[in-house]
Amino acid sequence: MNRRAFARRLAVSVPALVALASRRTEAQQAGQQPPPPTAPPAGRGQFDGSPVGDPLPGQKWRAHDRSRPQPRKVVPGRPLPTPSASSDAIVLFDGKDLSQWSGGGRGGVTEPKWKVENGYVELVPGGGSLVTKESFGDVQLHIEWMTPTGTDASRVGQFRGNSGVTFMGQYEVQVLSSYDNPTYPDGGAGGIYGLYPPMVNPCLPEGQWNTYDFVFEAPVFEQDKVVKRACITLFFNGLVVHNRAELLGATATLPLAAYKAHAAELPLTLQGHAGPARYRNIWIRRLRGYDA
Ligand code: MG
Repeated sequence: MNRRAFARRLAVSVPALVALASRRTEAQQAGQQPPPPTAPPAGRGQFDGSPVGDPLPGQKWRAHDRSRPQPRKVVPGRPLPTPSASSDAIVLFDGKDLSQWSGGGRGGVTEPKWKVENGYVELVPGGGSLVTKESFGDVQLHIEWMTPTGTDASRVGQFRGNSGVTFMGQYEVQVLSSYDNPTYPDGGAGGIYGLYPPMVNPCLPEGQWNTYDFVFEAPVFEQDKVVKRACITLFFNGLVVHNRAELLGATATLPLAAYKAHAAELPLTLQGHAGPARYRNIWIRRLRGYDA
């Protein structure tokens, strides 16, 4: 799409998206999850999705800035890191069952509704999110994901493969079909949604498994004040795409992400968004520091 057509599309779509975002905020304030978009409404284009947000402190971009450069594509080295769980890891998914997970959605905590088959778990549109039964703070997390092939070609941008790894249910790193599917850069696969794109884009084509290896450092609060921000380090298909990136707060679009004091440990969420998305080989280790 040329620049003028893109500007026209943005002008049309932004007011509707702002309205959508404010509804979402109201729903979140009421403690509810927004209804999952199961199919792209007509007119959802390559760069549609969350509206452009406020200027990001310390950066020259706004949240979801469409003028931000696309992350440079890189072919990852092989083999990809796909280790099985270490002896001190908690196996969250070994390809067989969802015994470590609950379902999360508008109905509150439920039985998980995602589909387990062939050694992976697949997002079920309208089936809510997956939420770990256990809570975590500082962790190392290994997770493998793919966008399956066969997705309707009309689904593009944020509507192609959208899920997410959300630490503490608040801090989302995007899962999206990003091999050949541009979107606003902080919303692509490996992006810290609304804050940073991945430093490079090593996403593989649909039908191939990608790996995420995280170090997540939980925020620390004293009363209502954050005294240590959350930090994310991510190896995406073996490549560093975030190096202790400091988060502004819980993932949000308008207004900007901000911190709200919470418990030292909270469940991990796999986001039930538009999908399709599959996950496998998920394990997590609590980080206890030296001499612990
Ligand atoms: Mg997402």
